[in-house]
Amino acid sequence: APEPATLTVEGLSVHYGGVCAVDSIGFTVGPGQSVGIIGANGAGKTSTLKALMGLVPRSGGRVTFGGTDLTRVKARDIVRHGIGYVPEGRHVFPGLTVEKNLMLGAYARAWRGAETKRSLAEVYELFPVLGEMRSRLAGALSGGQQQMLAVGRALMARPRLILLDEPSMGLSPKLVEDILAVLVRLREEGLSLLLVEQNAKLTFEATSDCVVMENGEVAMVGTSRELRDDVRVRRIYLGL
Ligand code: ATP
Repeated sequence: APEPATLTVEGLSVHYGGVCAVDSIGFTVGPGQSVGIIGANGAGKTSTLKALMGLVPRSGGRVTFGGTDLTRVKARDIVRHGIGYVPEGRHVFPGLTVEKNLMLGAYARAWRGAETKRSLAEVYELFPVLGEMRSRLAGALSGGQQQMLAVGRALMARPRLILLDEPSMGLSPKLVEDILAVLVRLREEGLSLLLVEQNAKLTFEATSDCVVMENGEVAMVGTSRELRDDVRVRRIYLGL
């Protein structure tokens, strides 16, 4: 099993031209901990994940993982440090088979065949449906199956922490339940999770702790249980 590590984010900011999308936010994700970031459309959640992955320039702040300073590490190297990323909208390659899509997830690790095979077997064990459909084109999978493929692809590099951007987006309530089961399973496997969602209900069920983002800032933090019962959160994010 991979070594546990803590993600520490301090004073992270993202600007697009003159627009401040993320305004000096901080939080930590401990080993095996599952943390959610909830917030409305445009609150800065996606920009936060992209900044952690080095996919958008950070205009300030410090990111460390397992004691390693990642602040200046390039996107293509972040994966090697044990951080997996499942982008919003899944982005699987529709014209490639399920198995080819998965193999691409191991690419950054530059492994030999045996290790890739072992990772593949693990992913197929976690998602039997991907094993059954391994020779099908990814474009032929349902939305929920593509989401599992996107998660499986990230797992191929054996991350210690996985960042997920709106895995429930566009999925039916039944498939959202399936995604929840997947997240619970990943937690049980000891992976650390950072989950970004507009679906607060799913997030509270899948995580132990949450950050609420509003206008690029951290508006509230707490355990998922506390926040789920908070009057303001219930009104704004749960529509109750
Ligand atoms: P979503 O639910 O849509 O993913 P979000 O909470 O993830 O929302 P971001 O996508 O991070 O929010 O956007 C935060 C702010 O930054 C918004 O005001 C958005 O319009 C702006 N923004 C995002 N990407 C860009 C960009 N490439 N260029 C300019 N502004 C951007």
